[in-house]
Amino acid sequence: MTGRRTAGPGPEVIVQVDRDRCIGSGMCALTAPGSLALGADGLARPLREQPTGAAGEPLTPELADAVDYCPVEALTLYGTRDGRRISPAG
Ligand code: SF4
Repeated sequence: MTGRRTAGPGPEVIVQVDRDRCIGSGMCALTAPGSLALGADGLARPLREQPTGAAGEPLTPELADAVDYCPVEALTLYGTRDGRRISPAG
């Protein structure tokens, strides 16, 4: 997924941060400040931490862009309905 999107929120997703990959660039927090932030340790974390089985959040264009822009591919989106990876595409 690339480019500017104009559509509204998509399906519900869960954001996962691979903290072993994250280098703390902050790009995701700038791109999708409603979904991601840098924690006290300097690494990204979802604003809505997801306990197992919890509901997700809407897939916004900003969140999709944040996944695309992460320089180390540390972000993954999973659908809440079936748990399948939505982005990045496999
Ligand atoms: S864009 Fe990627 S590397 Fe940068 S803070 Fe977010 S998850 Fe970490």
